[in-house]
Formats: sequence, structure tokens, C-alpha cells
Amino acid sequence: MTNMAWTDQEPMVSIKDVRKSFGALEVLKGVSLDVMKGEVICIIGPSGSGKSTLIRCVNALNDIQGGSIRVEGQEVNDPDLDKLELRKKVGMVFQQYNLFPHKTALENIMMAPLLVLKEDKTDVEKLARSLIKKVRLEGKEDSYPGELSGGQQQRVAIARSLAMSPDVMLFDEVTAALDPETVNEVLLTIKELAQDGMTCILVTHEMAFAREVADHIYFTDRGVIVEHGTPASFFDEAKDPRTIEFLGQIL
Ligand code: ADP
Ligand code: MG
Repeated sequence: MTNMAWTDQEPMVSIKDVRKSFGALEVLKGVSLDVMKGEVICIIGPSGSGKSTLIRCVNALNDIQGGSIRVEGQEVNDPDLDKLELRKKVGMVFQQYNLFPHKTALENIMMAPLLVLKEDKTDVEKLARSLIKKVRLEGKEDSYPGELSGGQQQRVAIARSLAMSPDVMLFDEVTAALDPETVNEVLLTIKELAQDGMTCILVTHEMAFAREVADHIYFTDRGVIVEHGTPASFFDEAKDPRTIEFLGQIL
């Protein structure tokens, strides 16, 4: 699906006036945002405001009823789109990591490249071992998910997604279900990925993390982006009353 016309001077992900409904319920009411290669953007906002719906649209887990979403110039809503090609480019990590319980950490990471991409087993294992190191789980290669903490399992899930060599990563509240003591190790992994230049779209309620890592922050409420800016402008100079109220509750 490589769009030969696209260059990284243009947004890697371009979301324009996106509308999304579930039946009669309009959940996204004209959302626009751009993400350049290497940028990290954080989406925050109250529960039910459409954050998950929006990022699920980016890898075509949701269809859209209006507007456009382009990843590296390719229209995601194009009926001719090869979804496998899209999902190789766009990795996603959810709150629920859903590892295969009867597979080891290493096997979980190896599965998609082996079964979906049909890559060579020796190469895939080498890649998986390097990814285990990258997420700081050296020594846990042969552990089963049940033997790992929530934070460790979530880092295996991140490594599993990275095994497809994505160009952009989507993270949907990946620390929200974790025990507090394991949240920071997962945030550190994401921060290191971002520092390595990975393009990231994160839905998070971890405000200190967002302030430190994000290039831009977007605040959603009831299906619209009501405010966005750099972390400094967003946290210190928020103007919209909905943002101010939300920050007042959470900070
Ligand atoms: P957030 O992630 O910001 O909490 P969501 O994107 O999950 O919000 O949900 C936004 C709205 O869309 C909510 O009202 C939710 O109930 C509704 N919604 C989400 N997914 C579905 C679905 N598959 N079918 C019907 N309604 C949905
Ligand atoms: Mg959500």
C-alpha cells in the first residue's frame, strides 16, 4: 500500500473532519489532527468522549461515516485497502493485553511474524529476543503470561506489536488496568520507544507522562477536540472551560 507520492514532510497520520456513528449515536463529530513522523501525541478527555473510537479508526478497526484518515498518504477508509498492509504499518496496544496464556513471552512475540508474515523462524526468534531486551524483560523469554506481572505482560504486548515493525504505534490507556507499582515500567518503555523516534498516538490519563513525552496534547469532549497545544500551553494555559474542569479533577 506504499503511496509513492507520500514523503515524511507530510503528516504520517492525517485525520480530517472525521465523523463516526454507532447507529443513531454520533460519537465523533468532525475530528481533525495530524501527526508527523517521530511525533508523540496524547489524547486525553473524559470517559465516553470518543478517544478509543478515534484511534480504532486509524487502523480500520472502526469504519467512518465522514471525513478522511490517511496513513502515509493512504486513505484508510478506501474499500480496496489491504487491511493487513495497514496493520503492519500501524501497531496497536490496548488496555487488555490478551497474550496467549499457553505460549511463552518469546512465543507470543514471534507469533504474528511467523504466522501472518510467514517470516523465517530463526530471523523471527532473533528479532523477538532483541525486542524482549528493548522492553527490559531479559530473562523472561520463557515465562508464561501467568508468571508475569501486569506491567510485564503489557511490555510483552508492546514487544509483540513491535515485532510487526510498525511505523506508528497506537496506545489506548495501556496502563489503566495495571497495579500502580507496575505503571511506571510500562510508561518508561513507551518513553524509550518515543525517544528512539517511534511515531506514537497515545490515549492516556497519565498527565505527568503526557507533559514529559508528548509533542502535542489533544483534549476531546463529546466527540470533538475542544483544545490542543504543546504540553506547556495545554497544562498551564488551558482556556476551554471543559479542559479546565477536567484538569481540575485529575491533577
Ligand atoms: P472513550 O474511549 O473516550 O472512553 P469511546 O470511544 O470508547 O470513549 O466511546 C465513545 C462513545 O461511543 C460512548 O458513548 C460509547 O458507549 C460508544 N461506543 C463505543 N463503541 C461502541 C460500539 N461498538 N457500539 C456502540 N456504541 C459504542
Ligand atoms: Mg477508551
